[in-house]
Parts: sequence; structure tokens; C-alpha cells
Amino acid sequence: MINLSHIEEGSYVNGVGKRFVIWVQGCNFHCPGCGNPDTWSFETKNLFSFQNLFSIILKESNITGVTFSGGEPFLQASDLFLLAKEIKEKTDLTIHIFTGFELDELKTEEQKKLLNLADTLVYGRFDCSKPNNNQKVWHNPQSREFWDFNNTDVEIDVTENGDINISGFPTLDLISDMEDIQNEGI
Ligand code: SF4
Repeated sequence: MINLSHIEEGSYVNGVGKRFVIWVQGCNFHCPGCGNPDTWSFETKNLFSFQNLFSIILKESNITGVTFSGGEPFLQASDLFLLAKEIKEKTDLTIHIFTGFELDELKTEEQKKLLNLADTLVYGRFDCSKPNNNQKVWHNPQSREFWDFNNTDVEIDVTENGDINISGFPTLDLISDMEDIQNEGI
């Protein structure tokens, strides 16, 4: 089973084109300036089988791909590999993955198998005090797609019940402003 924080059916700042984004739950890197600290805890949030998630993805129209983010996707490599395999074998969708691991830290067989199915990997510990937030990009030489990664894009989504979800690469000031707005109930 895949333990998810949440999903977003259509995002434009997490890869090429419109993407279905899966935020997994659980990460032990605790990077400075991480925009998703709610995803650090390893508590069980939302459990989905890879088959169930795949069927949800298939219902989305006009998406160009699926992005795994978090949380730390490579800590759930076994089930995400099974999902990625379904996507690759049965659709034309591409796969992008955000990870805090360095490439040479992906050592298990499942992690290597998942990496091989990624079109693009944005990797390395996030650090908002370093150039490019310390993030590097690996493009799979087998991929037909090239993502010109831009880590300044931000997407803000206000849900029907007033929750504010920020996606992409907000500054700490923007995150703080959005938290103030959320707390004021605007
Ligand atoms: S790896 Fe990603 S989710 Fe984990 S702490 Fe770093 S930026 Fe946050």
C-alpha cells in the first residue's frame, strides 16, 4: 500500500505540462526550508493500493504525466515502482520524481528499479539557503521528454473549505504570508 499525504489532479509547476501529483507521507530528511513539513510524519494518512491509484489517474483527462513528490517517494519505492510500471506499460504518461536522496544513495533494488522508470528526477536535500535550493536534475537518457526545470514557479490553490495549498517553490516569506491568511480565515 502507498501512504499518501494528498493528491492533486492537475498541477502545472511539478513537471512538463499538466500533471497528476502524488504527495507521499513520510520523510526523515527534514531539509531546511522544506515547503511540505506536514509530510514528514510517518503516521498512516491515506492508504491506496497501486491499482487503486492507477485507476484514479486513468480518469484524469489531458494530463501529460504523473509526478511523485512528498514526503520521500524512495522510502516507498516498492509500491511506487509497481504504480510506475503500470503507468509506463499502459499509458503514454511520463513520470517525474522529487527526492531528497542523492543519486548514489539510491541503493536498494526497488529504488533503482523506480529510478529507471523516471523520465526526470529532481534530487538532493533541499536547502533554501543554497543556489537552486541545492536541487539537481537527472534526465533519463531513454526518455522522449525534457523538463527545463524552473524552481521559482509557484501554484496556490484555495479549496472550497478555505484551505490553502501551495505547490512548487514558494519563498519562506510567501509561505508565512499564506499561513497568516489561512489563520485569519480569509
Ligand atoms: S526531502 Fe523533500 S519532503 Fe523531505 S524534508 Fe527535504 S524537501 Fe521536505
